[in-house]
Amino acid sequence: MRTEQTFDESITGAPGKSSPIYRKKKALVTGGAGFLGSHLCKRLLDEGYQVICLDNFSTGQFSNIDDLTTHADFQLVVQDIEKTLDGVGDELDEIYNLACPASPPHYQLDPVRTMKTNVMGAVSVLDLACRTGATAFQASTSEVYGDPLVHPQPESYFGNVNPTGPRACYDEGKRAAETLFFDYARTRAVPIKVVRIFNTYGPNMRPDDGRVVSNFIIQALRGEDITIYGTGNQTRSFCYVDDLIEGFRRFMMTPDNALGPMNLGNPGEFTILELAEKVIEKTGSPSKLVFLEKPKDDPQQRKPDISQASQELGWKPEISLDKGLDFTIAHFDNVLSKADAGPFVEAAE
Ligand code: UDP
Repeated sequence: MRTEQTFDESITGAPGKSSPIYRKKKALVTGGAGFLGSHLCKRLLDEGYQVICLDNFSTGQFSNIDDLTTHADFQLVVQDIEKTLDGVGDELDEIYNLACPASPPHYQLDPVRTMKTNVMGAVSVLDLACRTGATAFQASTSEVYGDPLVHPQPESYFGNVNPTGPRACYDEGKRAAETLFFDYARTRAVPIKVVRIFNTYGPNMRPDDGRVVSNFIIQALRGEDITIYGTGNQTRSFCYVDDLIEGFRRFMMTPDNALGPMNLGNPGEFTILELAEKVIEKTGSPSKLVFLEKPKDDPQQRKPDISQASQELGWKPEISLDKGLDFTIAHFDNVLSKADAGPFVEAAE
């Protein structure tokens, strides 16, 4: 990985001086305390960036960034993304917009706010990019394809989204955000990168995230019933978080004319039942399967076509579902054992 430094004309010293002064590259990560954001902040720090992590902790967790807060190049800003980001910084090279609740139970809790986060958040980020000249990176989603009628899904597919259903606040919010990114690129020359993220899992997901991988692992570790929504024959393709972050970084380093949208995900496709069986086997859990009602508009199948990422980034996921589940189970096992230990107080003599 190249050293992340950039030439800063504002601090070159007296005119005519020949030796340039370099500063570290600076990135803003909105949603930086969330699942993906926290992994990205860490990766950027490891690469030598200065990182501003912006989060309102609506679904982000302080524990995700606890070990980053002592890093000299890490700064935490607690703020809503819908508000102007004017005060956040001037010398920005890259802005990663990851701020939005992403699991169906969380984004449906306050759907109006989810839509505002997506649309007004995109405007805040893009205005900041306009002002600073930074490249704006949008975490879009496979949800823009809705309940897809084309399988696997290439970027050219326009999708099959119900605009009035319970998932619309997220699906249509992310679609509107994509529109804003491309309109700012066309009309205001903002350099943009838009990725469509398929189901991703790994450490730092919230235990109460409500998504299938975290739910099944937590239920299995606690010996509780594994909740299958519907018959369990619907499919998803699961990408381990480290593979996804590698894709983010490779895409960010492409020339300005590579805008996306670009699918990033693991094309390995599994039914939800297959996932449940894997989790039960790996945890040795006595948990039983229970079948509950399938949520409205729940997509029946999903699998990314990653030809574009493979050709343009030389990227493909390296971590199998088996290996990724092992890492994630170990993580949640640790989280649960800490939670079970509970908070301690000094015992009376
Ligand atoms: N799902 C399930 N049990 C759960 C949570 C989710 O069967 O406890 C199903 C859900 O109905 C969907 C799939 O797993 O078909 C993936 O759901 P998730 O919420 O993880 O992601 P998304 O639907 O956004 O892809």
